[in-house]
Amino acid sequence: MTPISNDLAELEPAELEAQLEAHGCERFHARQVYRWIHKGSVTDFGRMTNLSRTRRTELQTAFVIGTPRVVNDEVSIDGTRKFALELADGRRIESVFIPDTPSMTFCISTQVGCAMSCGFCLTGKMGLVRHLTAGEIVGQVRVLAAATGLLDAPFNIVLMGMGEPLHNYDNTMKALRMLHSEHGLAVSPRRVTLSTVGIIPGLERLAREPLMPNLAVSLHATTDEQRTALVPPNRRYPLAGILDACRRFPLKKRSRITFEYVMLNDVNDTPEDARRLVKLLAGIKAKVNLIPLNPAPGIPYGRPSDDRVNRFAQILADRHITVSVRKSRGQDIRAACGQLIVEGGTRKTAAQQMAMLIG
Ligand code: SAH
Repeated sequence: MTPISNDLAELEPAELEAQLEAHGCERFHARQVYRWIHKGSVTDFGRMTNLSRTRRTELQTAFVIGTPRVVNDEVSIDGTRKFALELADGRRIESVFIPDTPSMTFCISTQVGCAMSCGFCLTGKMGLVRHLTAGEIVGQVRVLAAATGLLDAPFNIVLMGMGEPLHNYDNTMKALRMLHSEHGLAVSPRRVTLSTVGIIPGLERLAREPLMPNLAVSLHATTDEQRTALVPPNRRYPLAGILDACRRFPLKKRSRITFEYVMLNDVNDTPEDARRLVKLLAGIKAKVNLIPLNPAPGIPYGRPSDDRVNRFAQILADRHITVSVRKSRGQDIRAACGQLIVEGGTRKTAAQQMAMLIG
């Protein structure tokens, strides 16, 4: 068994109880501490005023509460805020607050960098540096909720920041359990959306989770040839397998799987693509979210005109598929989809990245 971490921010309620029990604490003390960390965003044991002074000092000596440090906080003209956060080992990640969409939303990272290498994504260009721990995933929510004054308000979480959540499966699911705890922020899984390139074994595991988030699948193409060129993991997990896993995916009443589709000018945005997409989605309770590309230096694709986007959307709508076009927010501060990147990432070869993905 792996030893329980002495970083209390890494622990689920049951682990925290076990860890504190060894220090003579009762169950309710563990709940109090969990509440201070997660609900109060308090990281200094000295401020945990419902614990005795001796206990506070004792905990202070034995434990730490790891918390990402805000090193940059930029606000876009549309109100989107991008936070650069520094982790205990000095690595940096980015997390984004998107207000009023219509609710408040936090876009959270699951890895430093990403191994998927999607051809239109800046994070993909970094390669994977490392997975985030559960505490670091939850820590982003704690820090952003505190910074935006939302610790006591409802908000949504989208796992659409840096990284591929199903490539860091265990830590991501542990983070969702920690966020869900009634002693912490009590975030309902209905308010969480997990976005994935479609790692099939991960989708199958997710289908059996008791705490199941909403599912978004990044499709982006309608033939395997084109998808493999844009989203390299498609070689191992091709379209038919992903869509099969989606067909079997247990959905709650009235809920649907979102299919994200980045639109690249003159590449995957033709009327034929739209018609093929309709066919692929037959038999799936689906909605489609079109994301006109957010262009960036080094990305060899262009953003299609509004006319092309609307023509594509109309073909789907005419075939009774619910379709929306994502407004790209925070582009002026590079906070939009696919624009999250921090310097210093090690670039790995495609083969190394595939090895990591499969391993
Ligand atoms: N790895 C996960 C989540 C991260 S990205 C996934 O792939 O789903 C969230 C969404 O932003 C994905 O659909 C991704 O394909 C999209 N995206 C990446 N780069 C983009 C860009 N330059 N413009 C628009 N959307 C982009």
